[in-house]
Amino acid sequence: MTAKIIDGKQLAADMRAELKTEVEQLQTKNITPGLAVVLVGEDPASKSYVTAKEKACADIGIYSNDNRLPAETTQEDLLALIDKLNKDPKIHGILVQLPLPKHIDENKILLAIDPAKDVDGFHPMSIGKMMIGQDAFLPCTPHGVIQMLMRSGVQLEGAEVVVVGRSNIVGKPVANMLIQKAPTGNATVTVCHTRTKNLAEHVKRADIVIAAAGWPNTVTADMVKEGAVVIDVGVNRVDDDTKKRGYRLVGDVDFEAVSEKAGMITPVPGGVGPMTITMLLYNTVESAKRTIKTE
Ligand code: NAP
Repeated sequence: MTAKIIDGKQLAADMRAELKTEVEQLQTKNITPGLAVVLVGEDPASKSYVTAKEKACADIGIYSNDNRLPAETTQEDLLALIDKLNKDPKIHGILVQLPLPKHIDENKILLAIDPAKDVDGFHPMSIGKMMIGQDAFLPCTPHGVIQMLMRSGVQLEGAEVVVVGRSNIVGKPVANMLIQKAPTGNATVTVCHTRTKNLAEHVKRADIVIAAAGWPNTVTADMVKEGAVVIDVGVNRVDDDTKKRGYRLVGDVDFEAVSEKAGMITPVPGGVGPMTITMLLYNTVESAKRTIKTE
């Protein structure tokens, strides 16, 4: 079998077109969704993520409020900025780019964000609501995975899903979303991690494999059931002298071999990555829509 490629770029483009229409509709009601992006320090990867997020906002008509602060910014100053953004009616979402410099307590900062503007979905209030099946902003990468599965027509109800990884930002939330009693859930989920005794035995049972371990070749062809759907969340750099920058990006799945066996597979790059930013835009538009409902 040669797997059908789940094209994250195309799915993201489709969703962004839908969101652009929603933004235009909101603008007829004098509402422009606004996203405040806060970056502390000079980390090159964080800077490029933030630039990509701001460009994505501009492309669909979201107002983006750029806050780039020096690495030596104090926790008090950062908390004061969050407080100001919490109160600003033009801002519907606040994104604090992680990691923060070591002298700042990340948890304190995330807790300070008004849950009504927590478009990253990392506030404990958002996570708690998600867990008990209440309406909440869903964390972007796991929500992007669910959207990819749904929009590719993958049957979730009753499916055996194996998630490789249990981080707070990917593994745990995606597993949680998939067990919810909802059309976007109803799956039977196993979560694997570094203490799992026999990873291959678990993955072999899966109708859907979600790899979020952060290591190349964590999922190999011998582990994958014929026809399984394989979602590769991993983004890893491997040395490659043929590339100008000296490396290339790969996922956690042995793409070449697994795509001969799987029914559907996501590539890296061009798979889950483009969906993550899209879901941030989605949450920001959703937050702006909620202001109408509560007015
Ligand atoms: P993380 O915090 O490092 O967590 C990795 C998880 O994988 C841990 O739970 C770890 O187990 C588990 N794990 C590692 N090696 C394993 C193995 N050989 N077998 C079974 N489990 C294993 O990573 P993360 O933040 O969740 O990110 C995971 C990957 O996704 C990374 O490559 C990251 O760059 C990528 N990512 C991509 C996006 C995107 O938008 N595309 C967004 C977020 C993350 P323990 O808990 O036992 O240590």
